[in-house]
Amino acid sequence: MSTHSPYPENRRILVTGAAGFLGSHLCERLLADGNGIDVLGVDNLYSGTKYNIAHLEADPRFEFMRHDVTFPLHVEVDEIYNLACPASPIHYQFDPVQTVKTSVHGAINMLGLAKRTRSRILQASTSEVYGDPSVSPQQEAYWGNVNPIGPRACYDEGKRCAETLFFDYHRQHGLDTRVIRIFNTYGPRMHPNDGRVVSNFIIQALRGEPISVYGDGSQTRSFCYVDDLIDGMVAYMRHEAGGPGPINLGNPAEITILELATTIIEMTGSRSELEFKPLPQDDPLQRRPDITKARETLDWEPKVPLVAGLTRTIDYFDQLLSRMDNVAVA
Ligand code: NAD
Ligand code: UDP
Ligand code: UDP
Repeated sequence: MSTHSPYPENRRILVTGAAGFLGSHLCERLLADGNGIDVLGVDNLYSGTKYNIAHLEADPRFEFMRHDVTFPLHVEVDEIYNLACPASPIHYQFDPVQTVKTSVHGAINMLGLAKRTRSRILQASTSEVYGDPSVSPQQEAYWGNVNPIGPRACYDEGKRCAETLFFDYHRQHGLDTRVIRIFNTYGPRMHPNDGRVVSNFIIQALRGEPISVYGDGSQTRSFCYVDDLIDGMVAYMRHEAGGPGPINLGNPAEITILELATTIIEMTGSRSELEFKPLPQDDPLQRRPDITKARETLDWEPKVPLVAGLTRTIDYFDQLLSRMDNVAVA
């Protein structure tokens, strides 16, 4: 009698941060890509929620494990996407020491796991490694301008150290590592009260409340729709000769926060007015990715224009607000 299972083996992909905004879209996308793939979603539910992945749980190829990546994880996998980390200033500044541990100890544990299982591993890094940049747009070769002791440092420096670890494991242990630097991304399943600008403005506009513009609103960001971002992330992971990166992923269409506010007011037909509030400390004044490397290496660029992405996001929050009466904008 054969000792082999009668069922074919699937490729098992680990996604950390699976119950978060990007992680849930990534799990959905990997499963939708079809046969031969199992997804193991790991999350400690710090800033994510099981509601984000509830629709995946009926799929026998999806498995969820509640676990904190700052502790070792012994599982058998073939590929790893390391997304676990709170991403919004309110969440990552709530417990800054845990934020650093998640980036640094989390990276060490996931790299140790990748080393043992010989898995390709991707790190979700961030445009925040550029800090308050003195060049625009930001190319991967720019080393950044980060305050190492300010309130954002737990996130920025944690992510910078995680990048260092990825490159050291690559050079020292020959791991197949991939680092992406994600620029501001938005879409359905953003946390409703984590203080990010797109979710704040949409919720305020839908409720007819004042739109909280920090500073004079002249600071810029470049917003990428979530589906585009996930396409780029998966394309890079599947690229055989992709190299360790880093690669910027984001949408180069840059707008001021004031323009974003007026666009959302118009799109929702809201009677909300602008309310100017102080600019938070170390808030970058401009941010725009140079995506030449992603275009050339991955043949990737964002396809969803801002208004189309905002339409889907406004629909999502409209439905969410009608189901919940306790969503408070942070
Ligand atoms: P999110 O907060 O929605 O998701 C992060 C997930 O990680 C959450 O579900 C949270 O519970 C989980 N998590 C946090 N600490 C953990 C720990 N110690 N162990 C296990 N799970 C843990 O944020 P997101 O927007 O989905 O971001 C995902 C990743 O992408 C993060 O690494 C973030 O830094 C990066 N990123 C996101 C953006 C963006 O615009 N959304 C931009 C740049 C980088
Ligand atoms: N690790 C893990 N899962 C594994 C293998 C390793 O979580 O399957 C952790 C391990 O606990 C260690 C870290 O990854 O703390 C780094 O592992 P590595 O082998 O690089 O270093 P070492 O164990 O020699 O310190
Ligand atoms: N912002 C704002 N009003 C808000 C929330 C944010 O004007 O209610 C500004 C914030 O100061 C920053 C930009 O919008 O300049 C983007 O903020 P977010 O927290 O979404 O992302 P990050 O600062 O991490 O790029």
